[in-house]
Amino acid sequence: MKNNIETIDGKLLMGPGPTNIDRRIKSALSREPLSHLDPDFFSILDNISSSLRRVFKTNNKVTFAVSGTGSSGMEMAMTNLIEPGDEVLVLKNGEFGNRMENLAQRLKAKVSVMSTKWGESFEQSLVIEKIKSMPNLKLVSVVHAETSTGVLQEIDLIGKYLKSTDIIFLVDAVTSLTGVNLEVDEWGIDSCFSGSQKCLSVPPGLAPITFNEKALLKVKNRKNLNSSWYFDLKMLINYWGEERVYHHTAPVNMLFALNEGLSICLQEGLEKRFERHKSNSEYFMTLLKQVGLKSFVDEEKFKALPVLKSVIIPKGMNDKELRSKMLINHDIEIGGGLGPTKGQIWRFGLMGFNSKKEFIDELFRKLALYIN
Ligand code: PLP
Repeated sequence: MKNNIETIDGKLLMGPGPTNIDRRIKSALSREPLSHLDPDFFSILDNISSSLRRVFKTNNKVTFAVSGTGSSGMEMAMTNLIEPGDEVLVLKNGEFGNRMENLAQRLKAKVSVMSTKWGESFEQSLVIEKIKSMPNLKLVSVVHAETSTGVLQEIDLIGKYLKSTDIIFLVDAVTSLTGVNLEVDEWGIDSCFSGSQKCLSVPPGLAPITFNEKALLKVKNRKNLNSSWYFDLKMLINYWGEERVYHHTAPVNMLFALNEGLSICLQEGLEKRFERHKSNSEYFMTLLKQVGLKSFVDEEKFKALPVLKSVIIPKGMNDKELRSKMLINHDIEIGGGLGPTKGQIWRFGLMGFNSKKEFIDELFRKLALYIN
C-alpha cells in the first residue's frame, strides 16, 4: 500500500464516490446470506425503512432501498411519477440535471428546462416564478447536490411553494443524504432518492428512496402502466410493505451493509455528521488555499457542497497525468471533471467515512509533491 493510511486495506478513495468503508460494513457484506423471504430478513427491511425515514427526515410509509445504484433511484422515481404527455420542469446546472432531462424525454413527457451555468445554482424565487408561469405543470425535478460541479442547490422555498399545489416535487439527493441537511417533509419534497456509495459510505448498489401520499396518489391514478416492470412501484410496494410478496430477489448482503451504514450514521447523530462534514470541508479549503488552488464554485455567490469539492486545475497542469500519478504512485483516487468541465476541474470527495482530517492531510501531502 502506497498511501500512509493504515486503517484502509487498499486505495484511498477521495473522488466523487464510492468511498472507503467501515470495518462494520465489511463484516455485514461477508455475513452468511439469508433468504429474501425469511422473516428475520423482513425485520432487517423494516429496520432499514425506519432508519431511512430518520435520515430523510420524513414520516413517509413508502421509504425503502431500490436494488441498483443511484441511477435506479432516479429511474424508479421518474418512471412511476411521469406519464407520457405530462409537463415536466427540469432544473439543470450539471450532469445529473442532464440525466433527469434525458429520462423525462424517454418517458415522453413534455419537458421544459431551466438552466444555469455549471458551477452556479438557481435563485429559488426565479424558479417559483417559472413554475407559476406553467399552469399545466405536473412535476418539477432538481438535484440537491450537483456532484458534477460541487454546488448545493437550496430547495426549501421551492418545495414549500409546491406543497400548496398538485405539482410533484422530485429531488435527487444522491450526494447530499447524511452529508448535508435535507428535510423531506418540512421542505415539501414528494419523492427523493439517493445512493448508498456517497455519504452513507456503503458500496454502490442500493438507492434509498421515499414517496409521500401526494406522490403515491399520482402513481395510483396513472392511466398508463409503468413501462418498466422492475421499477413498478405498485408491485414493489407489496414486497417492502406488509404483504411481503416476492417481486425480485433482494440483494440481501448489500441490504445488511446498508442497515449497518445507517446504524453508523444514526449512532454518530445526523446533526453531528453534518457538522463533521462542514468542518472538514473548511479544513480542506484552508489547505487548498495554502497550495494556491481555487474552488470552481464561486463561494461568495453560491453555496459549495461540504462533501464534494471541485477545484480549478491550474494552467500548465495536466489533469490526467496528475490523477494517474496520485493513483499509481500513492494509491489515492481523485475525480476528474465531467462534460464541459473535463480537463478543467478535479473533484475531491469528503463523504461519510472519508470526511476525515487524517485523509485530507494525506491527500495534500501527496498533492503537494506535484503542485508548485
Ligand atoms: N445523481 C447524482 C447527483 C449523482 O452524483 C450520481 C452519481 O454520482 C447519480 C445521480 C447516479 O448514481 P449512480 O452512479 O450510483 O448510478
